[in-house]
Amino acid sequence: MSKVLILSGAGISAESGISTFREADGLWEKHRIEDVCTAGCLDTNEEGTKKFYDARRSDVEDKKPNYAHQVIAELKQKYPDDISVLTQNVDDLFEKAGMKDSEIVHLHGFLRELRCRECEEIFDVAYQSQDSFATQCPSCGAKLRPNIVFFGEAAPKYQMLTQELNSCELIVIIGTSGNVLDVTYFAQLTEHSILNNLEPSNAIDDSYFTKVYYAKATQAIAEIAEYIEDFLENE
Ligand code: NAD
Repeated sequence: MSKVLILSGAGISAESGISTFREADGLWEKHRIEDVCTAGCLDTNEEGTKKFYDARRSDVEDKKPNYAHQVIAELKQKYPDDISVLTQNVDDLFEKAGMKDSEIVHLHGFLRELRCRECEEIFDVAYQSQDSFATQCPSCGAKLRPNIVFFGEAAPKYQMLTQELNSCELIVIIGTSGNVLDVTYFAQLTEHSILNNLEPSNAIDDSYFTKVYYAKATQAIAEIAEYIEDFLENE
């Protein structure tokens, strides 16, 4: 458990060229959530779902981490026990910024992974399409699926989020509209809180935050890092 929790969403990867979720021209303007990202879509639209995540996986291959990912990776290296980094993102930009698997938690799954629908074994397939990796689970022969949490499915790693929320003293929210996770509630659980988004969101009441930055993450991150360091050094 850490004193500082950094929780990010699609906005932190926007400047690396990965579409966000709900903004104009975002990913979901072009796809129906029910078709490719909702519990049951593997039964009703298996080929379409597979194709959608194959495209997302291939799309992130050439994407590079931006300054915000890099600063967070450096902070985690400097204060390994005091900072926890959790993300709603399924991309691998924190890993590309140098973070180890053990240093970052992907609450909603990870694009580079497939999971067996029966035995639950997880396979890192990098940027390959599902079928070019294997048409069946190499361990038990059952069907594979993207290791992504679809809407309506359980998110096992939320348990870690709950534990971190119960112990942290400062929460830092970067690049999330708050539609999936209730970050206004999270801010009320902690003594200090920072919010960084491009603009206000209908799903967030920013009056509950100690500090609010409406700016690009790459522009806000230096001041946010300074706040975190001051907080940890003066605790
Ligand atoms: P969202 O699209 O609902 O909200 C994005 C937020 O980021 C907005 O509040 C916006 O103001 C802010 N933002 C946009 N550009 C920014 C920038 N340059 N700097 C700082 N903030 C910026 O995203 P969400 O709340 O994360 O919810 C989306 C869900 O979709 C998540 O569960 C996530 O798993 C998934 N998703 C992930 C990725 C990814 O892995 N990169 C991309 C799209 C969607």
